[in-house]
Amino acid sequence: MRFLYVPSLCLSLLAFNIDSMPLSSTSSSAASLPREHRLRMYHTHTNEHLEVVFRRGDTYVSDGLNQLNRFLRDSRTGAVHTYDPRIFDLLYDLESAVGSPNAELQIICGYRTPQSNAFLRATTGGVAKNSRHMSAKAIDIRLPGIGTAALRDAALALKRGGVGYYAASNFIHVDVGPVRRW
Ligand SMILES: [Zn+2]
Repeated sequence: MRFLYVPSLCLSLLAFNIDSMPLSSTSSSAASLPREHRLRMYHTHTNEHLEVVFRRGDTYVSDGLNQLNRFLRDSRTGAVHTYDPRIFDLLYDLESAVGSPNAELQIICGYRTPQSNAFLRATTGGVAKNSRHMSAKAIDIRLPGIGTAALRDAALALKRGGVGYYAASNFIHVDVGPVRRW
């Protein structure tokens, strides 16, 4: 039985490889596996760490997105909002752009309820009335080992949305709204 089984297994593998191979591709079957897009984060207000795969190839991973939405909840009220997943692509590409793929991002602020945004506006500077933190399209970050000005410049070069530079507090704001800077 063993000698009959082995050739049939080889045949079925061969058939699988031919069926799954794009006509124009010269890559091996291993290289055509969808690439995992992973993010590692530390939240400076909740002291939580997260490592998550949010995308495989061209497909977002819903469980990963749910973990990120919860991780980036309003740290004052605990309110969770569904993030625009394009910002996770932005963070992933930003880390690659500065030569630190898969480094642990420090999160200063994720989602804000309108009430939390109003509270911050009243108590600190540099908080916009219509901040995109309230629509879960913005994140404030720093990346240990990378200067904040260099991180800002890399974010500006991506041209994916707004970039704010907060030198005194050592972080940048990125969002997936219109391209602009402050
Ligand atoms: Zn911000």
